[in-house]
Amino acid sequence: MTLQELGHSLKDCQRCRLSSGRTQVVFGTGNPGASIMFVGEAPGFYEDKQGVPFVGAAGKLLNELLESAGLSRTDIYIANVIKCRPPDNRDPLPDEVETCKPFLFQQIELIKPKVVCTLGNFAMQTLLGKKIGIMKMRGQAFQVQDFFVFPMLHPAAALHQGSLNEPLREDFRKLKAFLDRQPEPTTPIEQMNLFG
Ligand code: SF4
Repeated sequence: MTLQELGHSLKDCQRCRLSSGRTQVVFGTGNPGASIMFVGEAPGFYEDKQGVPFVGAAGKLLNELLESAGLSRTDIYIANVIKCRPPDNRDPLPDEVETCKPFLFQQIELIKPKVVCTLGNFAMQTLLGKKIGIMKMRGQAFQVQDFFVFPMLHPAAALHQGSLNEPLREDFRKLKAFLDRQPEPTTPIEQMNLFG
């Protein structure tokens, strides 16, 4: 299956209750051959309307931060753990995550990135399978199979809480330094089995 076919197969997905309140499934966007992927939590109001992840104020900030790290949206692929907007932007429920996360894992398998940057606690915990707070994990790389997970703060968190703005920028500086070292996934920092 190609990435496009996977996206098409989810267009009318009714596998969980979030299907009833969405405008459309927000599958993902960007370069299907990207070596860097960014993963957020779930679509918000504007993403649900436009069908594209990170298009609101958090998306604007993300674009600026990407530029600071020498990246652009055309270099990367962006998706969320959850593909449909939860009502009133509430947190996704555990059964919704369980139902939807296999599609994120399929996206990763098809894109084959070298680095997956998780934005916020929720995406990090989904990718690492661990209930650890983002403040302990951010700005470091963890090897998962043949790619690295690089946890970062979520741009929306910095918009809501000004004190997180500088730590978020620091995460992107650390990402740039990590990418500049051209990491090859050969030295496990921490081995985890995501798909098994
Ligand atoms: S959130 Fe995921 S599993 Fe639920 S309806 Fe949307 S695409 Fe399907």
